[in-house]
Amino acid sequence: MTSSAADATPPEPTVAVLGTGIMGSGMARNLLRAGLPVRVWNRTQAKAAPLAADGATVAGTPEEADGADVIITMLNDGPTVAAVLTDAAPGLRAGQVLLQSSTVGIDATTDLARRAGEAGLVYLDAPVLGTKQPAEQGTLTVFVSGPATARATVNPVLDAIGQRTVWVAETPGTASRLKLVANTWVVTLVSNIAECLNLAEGLRIDPQMFLDAMKGGPLDSAYLQGKSAALLSGDLTPSFTVTNALKDSQLILDAARTSGVRLDLVAAAAERFSRAEEAGHGAEDMIATYFAGRAPEQDGG
Ligand code: NAP
Repeated sequence: MTSSAADATPPEPTVAVLGTGIMGSGMARNLLRAGLPVRVWNRTQAKAAPLAADGATVAGTPEEADGADVIITMLNDGPTVAAVLTDAAPGLRAGQVLLQSSTVGIDATTDLARRAGEAGLVYLDAPVLGTKQPAEQGTLTVFVSGPATARATVNPVLDAIGQRTVWVAETPGTASRLKLVANTWVVTLVSNIAECLNLAEGLRIDPQMFLDAMKGGPLDSAYLQGKSAALLSGDLTPSFTVTNALKDSQLILDAARTSGVRLDLVAAAAERFSRAEEAGHGAEDMIATYFAGRAPEQDGG
């Protein structure tokens, strides 16, 4: 059998990571560990600078970072991704793949795919499932929708950042819709845990007694035990911030509204995240929604 150019393994892609916050920094490190050339950019330079020690080229502007085969955006929301792409525009070239991994919802995905198309980029709608630790360990699950022709280019990137890639459709949008369904599970679950702990406190039940009662049974979960242990030990280091959980709850509610679905639990979760944010817990892990369950007099208010 003779080999042809079509059979040849494509060269390893160069990658630009725009946004090196909680998720983007771990993803960039795993790309570097996989031996891919990586450029990074972050608005707050101090969060990108440590990646130089891992071998990344740290760029001063999105435009400097973007001359790569694959551009990953891992920014907080859709308007931010749009603004950063505008800043990057002078350096973009047709044929680059935009692996858009921020959670931006349905409308922003449509808008970003259009912008990418106008710039000649190949748009992959690629939200991720998993949080800080899976991002650091390269064990994210990546949902991807976009043209299959981009697969050969992005597969080394996806293999480096995740343990599983789910190619859900050939058109952008489907992966983001799946992500909203998955995050409905996440935001209601964490709110549910917080309310159980709130009630335990209110009823003067040691929360550990509740957790021990659940342990090993059909109602137990690693998530229940892990999030509760973090809260009870006072460790609110964010894996996923209250502010981003509120943003996602709002994206879910927008999507539900336009599709004629009523989601009472997500609406309640959003109210809790909003109260926790107003009380100053926005940058803490989303289990800080616990603090939204205190009656005002308990907060001294
Ligand atoms: P994060 O640590 O808060 O990072 C957010 C990033 O967005 C930072 O790089 C931040 O830059 C940048 N940013 C915010 N506003 C900006 C602006 N106006 N201009 C330029 N850059 C701006 O959040 P994260 O947890 O990594 O999340 C990033 C995305 O992944 C979000 O869409 C989130 O919903 C999604 N996600 C998160 C998780 C998770 O568990 N953490 C899981 C799956 C998906 P600065 O550093 O300068 O603020």
